[in-house]
Amino acid sequence: MSQNNRNPFTIAQAQFDEAAETLGLEPAMRELLRWPRREYKFTIPVKMDDGSTEIFHGYRVQYNDARGPCKGGLRWHVEETMDTVRALAAWMTWKTSVVDIPLGGGKGGVTCNPKNLSDGEKERLARGWMRVMARELGFDRDVPAPDVYTTPQIMAWMMDEYEVITGRSHPAVITGKPLPLGGSQGRNDATARGGVLCVGYACKRLDIDPTGTYAVQGFGNAGQFAATLHRELLGGGKLVAVSDTSGAIHCPDGIDPEAIVAHKNKTGKVLGFPGSKEIDADSLLELDVGILYPAALENVINRQNAPNIKAKIVCELANGPTTPNGDRILHEKGVHVIPDFLANAGGVTVSYFEQVQNHANYYWSLEEVHTKLDYHMSRAYDAVHEMHDEQKVHMRQAAYLVAVSRVAEAVKLRGWL
Ligand code: GLU
Repeated sequence: MSQNNRNPFTIAQAQFDEAAETLGLEPAMRELLRWPRREYKFTIPVKMDDGSTEIFHGYRVQYNDARGPCKGGLRWHVEETMDTVRALAAWMTWKTSVVDIPLGGGKGGVTCNPKNLSDGEKERLARGWMRVMARELGFDRDVPAPDVYTTPQIMAWMMDEYEVITGRSHPAVITGKPLPLGGSQGRNDATARGGVLCVGYACKRLDIDPTGTYAVQGFGNAGQFAATLHRELLGGGKLVAVSDTSGAIHCPDGIDPEAIVAHKNKTGKVLGFPGSKEIDADSLLELDVGILYPAALENVINRQNAPNIKAKIVCELANGPTTPNGDRILHEKGVHVIPDFLANAGGVTVSYFEQVQNHANYYWSLEEVHTKLDYHMSRAYDAVHEMHDEQKVHMRQAAYLVAVSRVAEAVKLRGWL
């Protein structure tokens, strides 16, 4: 596959085109849904600790708001580009639709390496981003949230800046906030929890034992929680490998999920975990495991390595980890893929709960959040699995058919076409 074909937005459009074809969407609907409705690209001057000023590049894409206000996270990443943000905003549109919450899709970010920024510099960058975007956001327009390398603290600074600008209390302008500022119970592990729940539903339908081996590629928020929640929610399982940007480790006898999370938090990396063997990061994906969780970035499963993947279930906690060629190969091999915008929809679902609680100014217990999350995820999973069985299409295509048809219906009902 050429580099150009790895452009995530080209991939997102190709996936959409396939669904539009199967659904027989009319040309105007296709054109509307294969492009963002609005895009913002701007510069953010930030005073650095050494007295210099650095100019950062910021983005926000409001992809589609037919089903409700745009919703989606903010990534702070060195490789962030307008096209990654466009792709992620498209996937947010299909994600909120597949879990059937009354929101649209958006995404934003900043090109930067947060590992090189002090807390003060991060705060000034967060407030600078919000100063540019405040007029285009709001609980009834567009609501950001955390994503790769953005945290509840960053959401808190952004909310505060928005409230300074508007002179009002507006907790629902952003989600993923710390609990004392209107965050929701259960938001921190919601992305991984939703994915692990989906693995449980899939195992039941496919008669696969979830208590066999599993591996986690990427050890940020979603990956770490998946490692621990898999055993907790599915009644067992042996974690045999994990990786992060430092490399990958393998322990055929099993890794204690709590111990590896503690090691990562203490040392900043997974390498050096006592009793583990270092392996090549790419070979983790090809290990003979029951369940594989890709939980890092895009395009890690592709034409080169897909033929060697041995997992029975691939649960995509990352956004866009599998290329279209990778998808086709996994499907032919009979690997059951739980596609990204279904597998990782738990995060935005609890973000939606957070907004509902902010509006009501009344907060739910953790048990209530978990029960409601299970309800939304199981309905979404069932709708996609049934589409996959009925239409004989792979799970990603089935998820697209469910999600795109709902957005198209909203567009029609609004009379846009
Ligand atoms: N960034 C997360 C995602 O990709 C969460 C988005 C949200 O909570 O709005 O789904």
